[in-house]
Amino acid sequence: MKIGITSTVPVEVVYAAGHIPVDLNNILIQSEDIEKKLLSASMYGFPETCCSWIKGIFSVARERADIEAIIAVVGGDCSNTNALMEVLQVENKKLIPFSYPHESLYEDLKIEIEKLIKNLGTNRDEVYRIKKRLDKIRKKVQQIDKLTYEENKVTSFENHYWQVSCSDFLGNPDEFEFQVDKFIEEVKTRKPELNKFRLGYLGVPPFVQNIYDEIERIGGRIVFNEIQRQFAMPSFEEDIVVQYQKYTYPYSIFDRIEDIQEQIEVRNIKGLIHYTQTFCHRAIQDIVIKKQLNLPILRIEGNDNYLVDSKLRTQLEAFIDMLKT
Ligand code: SF4
Repeated sequence: MKIGITSTVPVEVVYAAGHIPVDLNNILIQSEDIEKKLLSASMYGFPETCCSWIKGIFSVARERADIEAIIAVVGGDCSNTNALMEVLQVENKKLIPFSYPHESLYEDLKIEIEKLIKNLGTNRDEVYRIKKRLDKIRKKVQQIDKLTYEENKVTSFENHYWQVSCSDFLGNPDEFEFQVDKFIEEVKTRKPELNKFRLGYLGVPPFVQNIYDEIERIGGRIVFNEIQRQFAMPSFEEDIVVQYQKYTYPYSIFDRIEDIQEQIEVRNIKGLIHYTQTFCHRAIQDIVIKKQLNLPILRIEGNDNYLVDSKLRTQLEAFIDMLKT
């Protein structure tokens, strides 16, 4: 069966159980009627002060009759997911809770992963067989990331797209791997783009669909997509528990900052764009990020505007101009 996911989960378990994971966020952002989906959630009763991601993934889950169950990440992701789960339950969706422990403690996370294995009716051996398969693909996606920051041959959006898609491997790892291979071959023939200003992108993936094109248009290049890279599990740990322990997104902001600091050096980043979503608690973390990182940082906010508007365009232009001087 198709199983929707509200955020990155140990996707190995879903595949090991013979199901197809569907990242509801990716479906939403690639859909052509985002506006309609947001409106439909508002008409259903979602308050105006609710994050657009939540409203959008609710509409996707409700519309897609082929998605029979949803794994809801109720710990370590979003404070709104518990309420979202209750609403989806009213809509007769089967809900499977998954929770990242508050602190990334090995034993606590192991219990959560084992609960998911039991819930979906699979076993540890099958999970590790799938993990091996997915890690092979993740290594290729890591190659795309390297082609971005080492060889300057991959655009900001492409870097985002391949890594963010590792949350569910687009529901078909074999086809996904085939597309990755094809992309890598094509990229190798490209000339490096050396005149762009090297930037890092922090925070949740953007709701604003064309933000990467806009950044490139005004002379910037994102050579580090922080959370998307985490979705691609860059640590390559043999133990699945350790792998999801090293995944920084669900835990403390300080784990994320350590990772960001390391990548700023590795990728020779000159400025950071911190994207936050209106009504999201993560916007508060901008205070810590700015205090801890010694680099110019622009915080931008997306609400229900899924295309770059004039305010955002001006902010991006002013920031990149300032960095260039
Ligand atoms: S952007 Fe923030 S509020 Fe919105 S779904 Fe993500 S974590 Fe939740």
